[in-house]
Amino acid sequence: MTDPAPDLRFWARRFISPVMAGHHNHHDFAGALLVDAARDALQTAGEQWTEMRSDVFEALAAHEKPASAYDIAESVGARRGKRVAANSVYRILDLFVRTNLARRVESANAYVANSHPGCHHDCIFLICDACGEATHIDDDTLTGALRDAAHRAGFAAVRPVVEIRGRCGACGTEADPA
Ligand SMILES: [Zn+2]
Ligand SMILES: [Zn+2]
Ligand SMILES: [Zn+2]
Repeated sequence: MTDPAPDLRFWARRFISPVMAGHHNHHDFAGALLVDAARDALQTAGEQWTEMRSDVFEALAAHEKPASAYDIAESVGARRGKRVAANSVYRILDLFVRTNLARRVESANAYVANSHPGCHHDCIFLICDACGEATHIDDDTLTGALRDAAHRAGFAAVRPVVEIRGRCGACGTEADPA
C-alpha cells in the first residue's frame, strides 16, 4: 500500500471523529484553523503568541507522531535555517501543556498538538505500536468516572492519564495472538 501525501495524512489524522460527552460546542481543528485556535487560546491565557511560539506550534501540529523537544527543535531549526536550542523549545512545550495547546503522551515520552485548544478534556490517546502514530478520542463520561473513583479513594487534584496501545487502522488488523 502506498502512503497518501503527507498533508493528506495530516488531515485524515485530525478528523478521526471523537466520541463526545457533554453538551458544549466542541470543535476539533486542523491545519490553519488549528493554529488560529491555538493563538486565541494562548492569548486568552494572557500569554503572547510570539514568532518562536508560533513556529513551535506549527512544527508540533505538522508532526505525524508524538514529538520530543529535540524533534521540534530540529524542525524549527530547519525552517529558520539556524540552530534552535532544545531547551527553549522544551520551555515553550511546557507552556503549551499548561495552557491546553499541547498534550504530553506519557507512554511515548513526547508531545502532540491539542486539536481542541479552547476546550478542556482528559484526552484518551490511542498509540499505534507499529507506526507510532497517536490519535485521540474524548469521552468525558469515561474519564469522569476515573476522576470520581480517584476522589473516592482520597485523591485530590487528579489528572487521568489514559493511553491505549494497539495497531491503528492503517497498520492493519493482523490476527492478534488470542
Ligand atoms: Zn470540548
Ligand atoms: Zn481531547
Ligand atoms: Zn499504525
